[in-house]
Amino acid sequence: MIPPAFDYFRPNTVPEAVALLQQHGSNAKILSGGQSLIPMMKLRLARPGCLIDINRIPGLSYIREDGGFLKIGGLTRESDLEASAVVKSKYPLLLDTVGVIADPQVRNLATVGGNLAHGDPANDHPATMLALGAQVVATGAKGERVIAIEEFFVSLFTTALKQDEILTEIRIPAPPAKSGGAYFKIERKVGDFATAAVAVQLTLGASGAVQKVGIGLTNAGPKPVKAKKAEEFLKGKKLEVSVVDQAAQLASEEAQPSSDLRGPAEYKKGLVKELTKRAIAKAAERAK
Ligand SMILES: Cc1cc2nc3c(=O)[nH]c(=O)nc-3n(C[C@H](O)[C@H](O)[C@H](O)COP(=O)(O)OP(=O)(O)OC[C@H]3O[C@@H](n4cnc5c(N)ncnc54)[C@H](O)[C@@H]3O)c2cc1C
Repeated sequence: MIPPAFDYFRPNTVPEAVALLQQHGSNAKILSGGQSLIPMMKLRLARPGCLIDINRIPGLSYIREDGGFLKIGGLTRESDLEASAVVKSKYPLLLDTVGVIADPQVRNLATVGGNLAHGDPANDHPATMLALGAQVVATGAKGERVIAIEEFFVSLFTTALKQDEILTEIRIPAPPAKSGGAYFKIERKVGDFATAAVAVQLTLGASGAVQKVGIGLTNAGPKPVKAKKAEEFLKGKKLEVSVVDQAAQLASEEAQPSSDLRGPAEYKKGLVKELTKRAIAKAAERAK
C-alpha cells in the first residue's frame, strides 16, 4: 500500500502551479484532497512521477453568490459545502449530493473541484453539476477559460482540462423562483459509490408546467450522463404521473451502465427509472 516514489512540489500561487505543470508535462498531477489520487497510486493504477500540491495556495476555497452564480472555489472541501448556509437554504440538490459522498472523514479532505476533475462517472458531483447547468473555470498559462459542464466530461477519467490547466472555480447559475432539486442514490452500504443515482433540478412556470429541467445520471455509463431526451420530453409539461413515468423511462434508456459487482446492467437501468421518478417528485415538491 505504499505508492511508487514521486517528486513533490508545493507552490504558493496558481501561476507557480501552472508553471510546474508545464515544466513536468504528462508526468505531473495536481494533488487536492488526495482521496482519489492517493488510493489510485497505492493500487498502482496511477504512477505520476511528480505531484503538485495546491493545498497551500490561498484564495482557492470559498462559496459565494456573485453575479447571478453560486461560485465554488476549486479547492473547497466537501465538508465546507455541507456546512454552507447558502447551500442549505438555496441549493437542496447540492446538499442532498454532498451528504451521500463517502463518509465525513473523506469529505473533510476531498474537494468539489477534485470530484469533477477526476472524471470518474461513479463520483456524485458530475451528475449534480450536469443537472444544475454548471460551468467550470480552468486556469492555465494563457489565463482563464470557462467550460460548460456538458463539454467537460470527455471519457472515462478524462476531462476537457488541458495538461497545464487547474480547475479553479465552479459556477452554478442562481436558480429562479419556483425551482427545486433532489438527488437520489442507491449504494450497497453507507459511504459506497453509487450503484446508480439521479440528480434532477427543475423550475416550474406559473401554470405548474416544467419551464426548465436538468437531469444527470451517476455510474450510468463510461462518463457522467445528461439525460437529454428525458429533459426535452418534460419541458412545457405538467408533472402528471404518466408524464413522470415516460420521462423516467427515457432516462433509463439513455443510461448505459455496465454489469459489475454492483449488479447487472438491466437492474441498474431499472434503478435509474425508479430514482428518476423519485427525484422529479422531490424536486417538484421543493419547487412549490
Ligand atoms: C473511501 C472513499 C469513498 C468515496 N466515496 C465517494 C462517493 O461515494 N462519491 C463520490 O463522489 N466520491 C467518493 N470518493 C471520492 C472522493 O470524493 C474524492 O476525493 C474526489 O472524487 C476527488 O477529490 P480530491 O480533492 O480528493 O482529488 P484528488 O484525489 O487530489 O485528485 C483526483 C484527480 O483530480 C485531479 N485534480 C484534483 N483537483 C484538481 C484541480 N483543482 N485541477 C485540476 N486537476 C485536479 C488530480 O490530479 C487527480 O487526477 C470516495 C473516496 C474514498 C477514499
